Amino acid sequence: MEILISEERIRDRIHALGKQIEADYLGRPLTIVAILTGSLIVLADLIREVGIPHRVALLQASSYKGATTTAGALIINESFAPDVAGRDVLLLDDILDTGHTLATLVHRMSDRGALRVRTAVLLRKLGRQEVGIEPDYCGFVIPDRFVVGYGLDHNDDYRHLPYVAVLPTPEDPGASEETGQFPVMG
Ligand code: 5GP
Ligand code: MG
Repeated sequence: MEILISEERIRDRIHALGKQIEADYLGRPLTIVAILTGSLIVLADLIREVGIPHRVALLQASSYKGATTTAGALIINESFAPDVAGRDVLLLDDILDTGHTLATLVHRMSDRGALRVRTAVLLRKLGRQEVGIEPDYCGFVIPDRFVVGYGLDHNDDYRHLPYVAVLPTPEDPGASEETGQFPVMG
């Protein structure tokens, strides 16, 4: 598999994002709400870089089955949903693709009484967005390829990889040759 973003680049970027979040939320009632399961690894690494008091909570959402590029219906499991009333929520997801997941959850958090809701993503995929949402914090901008590793899966495989790699798929057979043409920003 072609490594798109190395372990070292991820570490440096997460450190920088953590320090930015720390400065932005100093003195604010921050709750980082991570969207399972893909944001598991970025959550664990990011919160250890945010050196101010904050709470951590989890939500589960899924819209994808396998490496298909067609998103399924968005399923949100709010059974562990946190009490965010009066708090600044920072929603954290692994990747912004069409934008439906984050946009929907921003509304849910506001409905639950959050003071302010912002968003953070490890990755933002170019050319697929359907909903006008701008993440407040973004690790890397990537080309339209199906990626795995650092929490991102294909049928729950590959989450443990310490880097982000392109998964060759039948719909995207030229992935490995083509990604070299795109700079990965961030
Ligand atoms: P959105 O609602 O923005 O379309 O979808 C976001 C979700 O789709 C992510 O949380 C992630 O679970 C899944 N997703 C989108 N693109 C990819 C990808 O390239 N790789 C993996 N593993 N999941 C993806
Ligand atoms: Mg996800």
